[in-house]
Amino acid sequence: MEPWDLVIIGAGAAGLAAGIYGARSGLKTLIIEEKMAGGTTADAPVVENYPGFSQTSGSELAEKMALHCKKTGVIFHELETVIALDLKGEKKIVKTSRAEYEATALILAPGAHYREMGVKGEKEFRGRGVSYCGVCDGPFFRGKKVLVVGGGNSACITTLYLSGLVAEVAVVHRREAFRAEDALVKDIDSKGNVKVYWNTEVKEIKGEKSVKTAVLYYMKTGETKELPVDGVFIQIGESPNSQFAEESGVEVEEGGSIKIDINQRTNIPGVYAAGDVTNHPVRQIGTAVGQGITAALQAYGYVRRPYYRK
Ligand code: NAP
Repeated sequence: MEPWDLVIIGAGAAGLAAGIYGARSGLKTLIIEEKMAGGTTADAPVVENYPGFSQTSGSELAEKMALHCKKTGVIFHELETVIALDLKGEKKIVKTSRAEYEATALILAPGAHYREMGVKGEKEFRGRGVSYCGVCDGPFFRGKKVLVVGGGNSACITTLYLSGLVAEVAVVHRREAFRAEDALVKDIDSKGNVKVYWNTEVKEIKGEKSVKTAVLYYMKTGETKELPVDGVFIQIGESPNSQFAEESGVEVEEGGSIKIDINQRTNIPGVYAAGDVTNHPVRQIGTAVGQGITAALQAYGYVRRPYYRK
């Protein structure tokens, strides 16, 4: 088992920032990523609030971060899944689909996955009209009619992106107003091909080979209606990818977010967490980067300066 100073799990914004700071501090650093580097940043159609980039695509920003990280000398193991951690001893053991690694310090930055609505037809039509990523699947719906579910920043950004591609976008939100940035809400108001259904829920997704309709329930009147659509984009938030961490004794709060202190420390000495997997109250690319940096610098202290371990 090859020993590493620092193993980072996850190559999203938090993990990549941690990698840059870890390697530049002189730590022998490995990043293990289940997919390809980039995380959910790469799925963002457009990013307009990351300082220094007034407008960029998430994939471009993620690619730049990954390239920067690779240049610092971090070793990347992509398409490798972490299965379990053994955090009982002084050295942390990371078991993956391919191998076992030993690390002095560990940063958990595995991000989050898209939350599901849990309605009938959602699982059945996943990949056949049901999607969780506008950038990935939007181009398949050019000239068609789609539905977006949700009322936060993600739903609004996805709606704006899709409105430039498809014929019509219906947005279904269970409240009377969005809880997204004003600039996004104003942009949605100005789009002629977007119709918002307030106080409405999706009860079922129906189709044959692919999605054909969504059953909408108007909460104020109790009525239901079947809306013909070719695609349903679900944008209702995220759930943390913390299961393997929790199973190894890392403390999480209700809902699964990893508990961290101001120094990104978890309850286990030498184990840090950063980004969307944590219970940090703000979920932005910028805050994920900041958390990753703090975690890496704290890990550096832990690896190189024994008094940090007290
Ligand atoms: P979010 O902010 O948690 O919003 C989720 C939305 O989905 C809410 O409107 C919520 O309704 C609704 N919802 C939740 N469960 C639902 C269900 N079962 N059925 C129907 N609707 C449901 O999630 P997000 O928009 O994915 O964003 C996640 C985090 O990333 C947020 O912290 C967000 O600020 C951040 N983010 C930031 C940007 C940006 O800065 N540009 C872009 C994307 C994401 P309620 O309002 O009723 O709760």
